Amino acid sequence: MRYRVLRPPYCYRWAVLILALVTMTTLAVVALRPSAQGASAAPTPPRRPAFTPAPPPPPVEPALVRHSSEPGRVVALTFDDGPDPAHTPRILDLLSEHDAVATFCMLGSQARRYPELVTDVLARGMRLCDHTVSHDQELRTRSEQRVMAEIVGGWTDLQIAAGEDVPVPYFRAPAGNWSERLSTLAARHGMRSLAWSVDSRDWTRPGAARIVATVKDGVEPGAVILLHDAGGPREETVAALEELLPWLRAQGYQFGFP
Ligand SMILES: [Zn+2]
Repeated sequence: MRYRVLRPPYCYRWAVLILALVTMTTLAVVALRPSAQGASAAPTPPRRPAFTPAPPPPPVEPALVRHSSEPGRVVALTFDDGPDPAHTPRILDLLSEHDAVATFCMLGSQARRYPELVTDVLARGMRLCDHTVSHDQELRTRSEQRVMAEIVGGWTDLQIAAGEDVPVPYFRAPAGNWSERLSTLAARHGMRSLAWSVDSRDWTRPGAARIVATVKDGVEPGAVILLHDAGGPREETVAALEELLPWLRAQGYQFGFP
């Protein structure tokens, strides 16, 4: 059987047809684009309209806060380095289940990534604490400008994540590496410097049983307890809380704020 050879005129016709189709498709795509023009190249488009925070509240005392000032058998739980999409919601559920409150020392960088967790924390009656933008553990050795950017920037990130002016009554230095300069700057920005009296050492991941034992050993009326809802796997912290929350209640403790 003989094959018909496609002669030049047919080749040109096909080429013109394909070119026309490609051109029309391109034009259609370009014409449809304006609807997507608002979106930036970032993977997630901004979820909230632009928000400019009001000026910070009046200055407070720069002294370190290590205890709850509420009278009676009160314990103040604090969770650092979040918010974290895996652990913060679980911890919030556990706290709600036991009618407990806590203070969340958030990183500005995390807050901006997960703004819905910031609003959730507030909606459940918890308090916010500024834990700087990026958790620089050597912050006390940095320049004035850098320290300002980390502390005031963290405060601003929380406001922007919340999408409205929200109270941030505390500041906590990364790794508890305090200096007078850090406390003074935070105080000027209306934030008390929040230390702790009991380090659960959950950040060393010693196992849930060890975390429970450390907290049980150290707790006393007015204790401020350091825990973490982010910064690494926190299953141990969650498991420890499942035991600690009912235990603290059984010991007659109320949950309060520093
Ligand atoms: Zn931290």
